[in-house]
Amino acid sequence: VHDSEEISALIESLGYIKTDVLEEADFIILNTCAIRENAHDKVFGFLGRCKHLKKEKKDIIIGLCGCMAQEESVVNEIREKHPYIDIVFGTHNMNDLPKMLTNYYGKQDIEVYSKEGDVIEFGNLYKRDSNISAWVNIMYGCDKFCTYCIVPYTRGKQRSRKSEDIIKEVKELKEAGYKEITLLGQNVNAYGKDLDDVSFARLLELVSDTGIPRIRFVTSHPWDFTDEMIEVIKNNPNIMPYIHLPLQSGSDRILKLMGRRYTKEKYLELFNKLKKALPYSSITTDIIVGFPGETEEDFNDTLDVVNECKFDSAFTFIFSPRIGTPAAKMKDDVSLETKNERLQKLNELINKYSKEANDRYLNKTVPVLIEGYS
Ligand code: SAH
Ligand code: SF4
Repeated sequence: VHDSEEISALIESLGYIKTDVLEEADFIILNTCAIRENAHDKVFGFLGRCKHLKKEKKDIIIGLCGCMAQEESVVNEIREKHPYIDIVFGTHNMNDLPKMLTNYYGKQDIEVYSKEGDVIEFGNLYKRDSNISAWVNIMYGCDKFCTYCIVPYTRGKQRSRKSEDIIKEVKELKEAGYKEITLLGQNVNAYGKDLDDVSFARLLELVSDTGIPRIRFVTSHPWDFTDEMIEVIKNNPNIMPYIHLPLQSGSDRILKLMGRRYTKEKYLELFNKLKKALPYSSITTDIIVGFPGETEEDFNDTLDVVNECKFDSAFTFIFSPRIGTPAAKMKDDVSLETKNERLQKLNELINKYSKEANDRYLNKTVPVLIEGYS
């Protein structure tokens, strides 16, 4: 979503105006996700509609970018089967878009770099989708290489932004009247480790010192969540007591196969430490079911953790094999039917605890941030 805001800004800098009506557009750009296979089908389904439009409106330009554009198999597919897609660029060269669009002369132009470049400072002087709540990148890429995940391949190695650039952006947002910011990174706890810069805990403190009313951050990996971070969250009331702490699985065997670098016990230890220090915090999670070889016992271990943590909410997924990742080559003998059953069972449990978490607010008066009409 945040990348799309930046892409919009690049296009608007050329004088284009945004439209939500597909038929009105002169340029249609799809910013894509590659985390699971189903995005692929949705994207090509949508592109089919665009192709149709092109028959009536010949000058329309169609573009594709984002993580799918970084997948070699997708680029090959576009070259071979989708000549009507005019412009393709990857996650490492978003800034080439104005040039590609201006120079486009009717011939398919695919420019995707396999290697990440330096962090490009985008500036802050563009229109975001909201004037209340803003996304702020603090880092790009990921070095963790969880065995199921395509992100390190499509987004490259971890690159942190300089803390001074982040603080400058947050101060400008505050000046502009923003009430909330969300710091973004695939693994925010590892912020700064690739630079000789401050730790994430210190960055949080510096961001808090700007006085922006509400600060959030996603995503924290349970592996390097430090005590210092917990202290900073506890001591600064403008850091929202909300932590997204992906579990992925409750089975030690599966966690090891996933390359997650923690055990069920370590996860629970961290969870309980957080709840002790921040009793009113909301903790949410991500869980994958049906990882290759996941047994009923492994799945029950996941349910155990859910029963113990009673998460406020969770994003739940069925494992999706991604070409090029180690897990895609693992023997997967769990049937789709079993995977669906497990997902449903898990969702029922998650919903039960979600309702309990919401019920805790019954008859309470709390400050809220109004983002718009509902
Ligand atoms: N960096 C974050 C996760 C980013 S991806 C972290 O490590 O916590 C968001 C979520 O998508 C992951 O937490 C995981 O639950 C899910 N996911 C990633 N790859 C997946 C795959 N191949 N199949 C199914 N779900 C996947
Ligand atoms: Fe993917 Fe997150 Fe693991 Fe990085 S830490 S490889 S983004 S799941």
